[in-house]
Amino acid sequence: MQVGIHELLGHGTGKLLQETSPSNYNFDHKNPPISPVDDKPINTYYKPGETWGGVFGAIASSYEECRAETVAMALCCDFEILRIFGFGDGNENMDGEAGDVLYAAYLSMARSGIASLEMWDAKSKKWGQAHSQARFSILKCFLAAGDNFCELDYQKEDLSDLTIKLDRSKITTIGRKAVESYLQKLHIYKSTADVKTGTKLYNDMTHVDEFFGTKVRNEVLRNKQPRKVFVQANTVLDERTGVVSLVEYEPTLEGMIKSYAERGI
Ligand SMILES: [Zn+2]
Repeated sequence: MQVGIHELLGHGTGKLLQETSPSNYNFDHKNPPISPVDDKPINTYYKPGETWGGVFGAIASSYEECRAETVAMALCCDFEILRIFGFGDGNENMDGEAGDVLYAAYLSMARSGIASLEMWDAKSKKWGQAHSQARFSILKCFLAAGDNFCELDYQKEDLSDLTIKLDRSKITTIGRKAVESYLQKLHIYKSTADVKTGTKLYNDMTHVDEFFGTKVRNEVLRNKQPRKVFVQANTVLDERTGVVSLVEYEPTLEGMIKSYAERGI
């Protein structure tokens, strides 16, 4: 559901305001649209030949992932959309299956925001992965939403008991509002080629402070699990009888090697 909205309605939507060729615009240049962020007529747009990637440069890919993720977080609060994906009957109900899916989507986003710190390099103070950077900023958006919507709870100095507390009953109100406000800014700055304001916003939102960069990150690294690998089964044809049988292997390094060896690779 989340990936579906992210790809189709996230990356798949939006318009760039452009001067498509000299003095030709794909919007009313004389009466420019009003930005919902500051209620002023927009005054930046893409000039002939300019592209989104060219204008926003290094932050473009992560910024765009963040826009798609926030579209997913905003629209999964719509129970009619949850129904389209097969959850619930379209009526707002946090206590049913659709509510479970929505809660899981928000909670797992907050969790990935924490886990994403693995992809932040403490030496260069830079992000190494576009999606991780985006998710960290969405966690910050949740934490800043107010009204105790989302909090990090811990007693121990080393954060080994770190727990995310996210109030399920406030997702469609407080959570959604915070996400929509963040999304609106990301979207408008992208649409209007406002690289200056957009870059400032995104750098602020993805900035890793002392607390996240040392304490939280250390705990994330301490809990790091080895990457999961699949031990592939093989099929064997008995040419005499024509029977095909499935050969499976132990989930160990030996099993992995045996699987490759018997496949003749
Ligand atoms: Zn994406």
